[in-house]
Amino acid sequence: MDGSGTPQAAPVLILLGPPGAGKGTQARLLEERFGLVQLSTGDLLRAAVAAGTDAGNQAKDVMDAGGLVGDDIVVAILRDRMAEPDCAKGVILDGFPRTTGQAGALDRLLTDNGQAVNAAISLIVDDVKMVVRISGRFTCGACGEGYHEAFKPPKQADTCDVCGARDMQRRADDTPKTVMSRLDAYHAETAPLLRYYGDKGVLKEVDAMGDINAIARDIAKIADHATT
Ligand code: ADP
Ligand code: ADP
Ligand code: ZN
Repeated sequence: MDGSGTPQAAPVLILLGPPGAGKGTQARLLEERFGLVQLSTGDLLRAAVAAGTDAGNQAKDVMDAGGLVGDDIVVAILRDRMAEPDCAKGVILDGFPRTTGQAGALDRLLTDNGQAVNAAISLIVDDVKMVVRISGRFTCGACGEGYHEAFKPPKQADTCDVCGARDMQRRADDTPKTVMSRLDAYHAETAPLLRYYGDKGVLKEVDAMGDINAIARDIAKIADHATT
């Protein structure tokens, strides 16, 4: 409820940025702090590939090559996930939308739910440095916490700080060659969204080359402002 007694629609935050910009890292911090649900289409697609669903089988080769999966597949996966009850708290979209077609589909979906995008937060990074970030990335297979060999190592080698599991995993597509394709896809297909959200007046830009916690503070200020 706001001061007028009108129920407020559940917030929708979008994190935009090239591969390695820190979308997943920052989405998890926002999830904790604001009680929102992180929705990563990359994670949803990887789960579909692992489960061998039709969508997963269609997506696999494109993902391995660092291209973008078709809008129809991604939008269907996201729509199903957003219909689950936990998303009623509000969501942080990490890696979606990635094309103007997806952005249009998201707007239609949100309008049907009486929602709108509160803020599209663009993480501004230096592309050249993203190869190092992606090459050193690994993730806890049990809880999904993200790590980096140099920038965010676990306190005890190979052991997750959050859940204690010893099941660190690397993504098949996190190779220097694939990163170049993914950066190209970002500039060709996703960067136009900056204009799309700028025109709507919800675009916020954050310098994302600094310390993870300092960036989190900048994003939290934006999220605070956008959701109250
Ligand atoms: P994205 O989801 O945008 O691809 P991630 O959040 O997975 O990016 O981050 C990519 C890698 O870089 C991870 O290994 C993560 O630990 C690390 N990382 C994230 N943010 C920073 C930062 N500000 N400085 C240095 N390394 C970072
Ligand atoms: P990153 O962390 O590098 O930004 P993601 O985990 O978000 O990567 O995505 C991994 C791969 O999954 C992408 O390279 C692409 O093939 C596919 N993918 C994820 N989200 C989308 C999307 N919204 N549209 C199309 N393809 C997607
Ligand atoms: Zn863990």
